[in-house]
Amino acid sequence: MADTKEHGNLSINSQNIFPIIKKWMYSDHDIFIRELVSNACDAITKLKKLSLIGEYEEPDDVDYKVEVRISSKNKTIKIIDNGLGMTKDEVDEYINQIAFSGASDFLEKYKDKADSEQIIGHFGLGFYSAFMVSDTVEIDTKSFKGQDAVHWSCDGGTEYDMTASDREAIGTEITLNLNEDCLEFANEYKIRDILDKYCSFMPIPIYLVDEDKGQLTEDVAEEDVLETDKLIRTFVKDAVTREEKDENGEPKTVEVEPAKKMATIEKRPVMLNDIHPLWTKHPNECSDEDYKEFYTKVFHDYKEPLFWIHLNMDYPFNLKGILYFPKINIEYESAEGVIKLYNNQVFVADNIKEVIPEFLMLLKGVIDCPDLPLNVSRSALQNDGFVKKISDYITKKVADKLSGMYKTDKENYEKYWNDINPFIKYGCMKDDKFYDKMKDAILYKNLEGKYLNLSECLEENKEKHENTVFYATDETEQSQYINLFKEEGLDAVILNNRIDQPFISHVESKNENVKFARIDTDLSDTFKEEVKEDELKELAEKLSETFKKALSKDNLNIKVEKLKNDQIPAIITLSEQSRRMQDMMKMYSMGQDLAMFGGEGETLVLNANNELVQYIEKNSDAENVSLFCEQLYDLALLGHAPLKPEEMTKFIARSNKIMQMLAK
Ligand code: ADP
Ligand code: MG
Repeated sequence: MADTKEHGNLSINSQNIFPIIKKWMYSDHDIFIRELVSNACDAITKLKKLSLIGEYEEPDDVDYKVEVRISSKNKTIKIIDNGLGMTKDEVDEYINQIAFSGASDFLEKYKDKADSEQIIGHFGLGFYSAFMVSDTVEIDTKSFKGQDAVHWSCDGGTEYDMTASDREAIGTEITLNLNEDCLEFANEYKIRDILDKYCSFMPIPIYLVDEDKGQLTEDVAEEDVLETDKLIRTFVKDAVTREEKDENGEPKTVEVEPAKKMATIEKRPVMLNDIHPLWTKHPNECSDEDYKEFYTKVFHDYKEPLFWIHLNMDYPFNLKGILYFPKINIEYESAEGVIKLYNNQVFVADNIKEVIPEFLMLLKGVIDCPDLPLNVSRSALQNDGFVKKISDYITKKVADKLSGMYKTDKENYEKYWNDINPFIKYGCMKDDKFYDKMKDAILYKNLEGKYLNLSECLEENKEKHENTVFYATDETEQSQYINLFKEEGLDAVILNNRIDQPFISHVESKNENVKFARIDTDLSDTFKEEVKEDELKELAEKLSETFKKALSKDNLNIKVEKLKNDQIPAIITLSEQSRRMQDMMKMYSMGQDLAMFGGEGETLVLNANNELVQYIEKNSDAENVSLFCEQLYDLALLGHAPLKPEEMTKFIARSNKIMQMLAK
């Protein structure tokens, strides 16, 4: 077809789809790289298969690779592969027709949708994403079938040109002549970033070459360049000619400089990608070191992961991946995981929540699912039964791993518990199936630092407080109560994570007769001496009056008990329900003025066995009584929650005054 020049119209109903593609893909401009490089990889994979089945005889020294060549000077990006190439008919079929029918489907289905989806590549539109950044796009391709090479070019309208190409090698070269607005893509660092993002694990070696950096020389022989990290590329520089007139006045062409062989010497590029990412290997082939190294490389997280799960499934669908449990400390940093989704080693997107259950988003990992129907929009993914199955499978695997570890490697499980518990608790609240699998492996750390699950907790305290689990949220603040518990041989568990409050409500809803109560909730009967009815009634009335007056709190609840420990004068208790209510309001920051609800559900418990309390009762008119009352009340408050600033100021002033009094 050497001199046949073909000029055609792209078969498409819509006048010009490119402005629309451009507009849609605005946010994801860089995906053209993914599309073109993955096409190049596909072309090589196909040729390798053909060679395997004997349809193609590959040269002995074949070196399959994809080259991305950029030049800021020329404003070009080239994607070159030595894959199977295309014949003229194939260019016609795959580029001129198929891709455009894909484009019209695309338009048809998504014309009303505003957001750009990760679908362009899955509509056979991949190749045309080149126009997102280019004024004109050229293809030079030579098929393994041995026909003449073809040159195709198109300026983003609906017309194209096809002529002969001087390409000699089998394979395809795509040239993007960048649009003025998109010259940044010819920048080495920019393009390297994009290649890292999308192509890090593609299955064919990928190299990046900055053509501007090549050193231009006259032809040199390979062996004359000593450094092995240098690469020589020879080409023929056309002769320089000039138009002149001969002695008869006829025009003639004069050669000023003859054509000559030239070469550029480039730094030998290094392979950018890992063609056998760890997830494609069998778990038996991977060492702990491999997993850790992969983690650091992919997530740039230099803290070691705690442990990981290698997913490897062929049936009923194909899914491979590695999920890492990172070391997180929810209290100090916001935990944000990343799950990277791949389709046959081609990066698709981060954190597609339709595929990965939301609570697993705290993990870091890679998932490769070639069967994933990504040719639909995200809203369709949500309702896709297959996607739901994938998500369920992942959840199940995670639960199996964790509950298995609880059963067979309890020591490590306990060691990791502090890091992983927020994640597990969150998962339990989000997913009933996960809860069912995990419920016996949820641990509660008791006052002795021992880890128990719920049934063990209940069992241990069956005699003393059946079906109630006492818990402390702050070991320092609540130390007075903790000591009381210890003295009486009672147990409580430590629940100091933000997620624990909603989580215990969840556990209560799942276990109807189980109740959680904070350690300062209600005085357990064990702390009190038994008293006859009405024995303390008179005392209570009298003390109540004195305290209310001294504290100027008319509606304070006051109770008098005989506590076994006579060293404690007073304690404040708050009903579990009121406290949860207050916490909730704080959380939704409605609590600016909690004083409005102040004291609701709060009780000041005075200990009739305590000397000071007895003194107050007997000397209610004495000069210092209101000072004692205030001090006792503040001390009781302190054991329960921090004082407000103004309360604290008064408390300190009063304490100093008391010491001065003692010093007199
Ligand atoms: P898809 O990759 O989804 O098929 P594309 O628009 O990316 O859609 O490509 C359309 C077709 O063009 C491909 O299926 C392939 O047949 C052909 N093609 C694209 N790039 C190349 C290439 N580098 N080498 C050989 N064929 C190619
Ligand atoms: Mg493609």
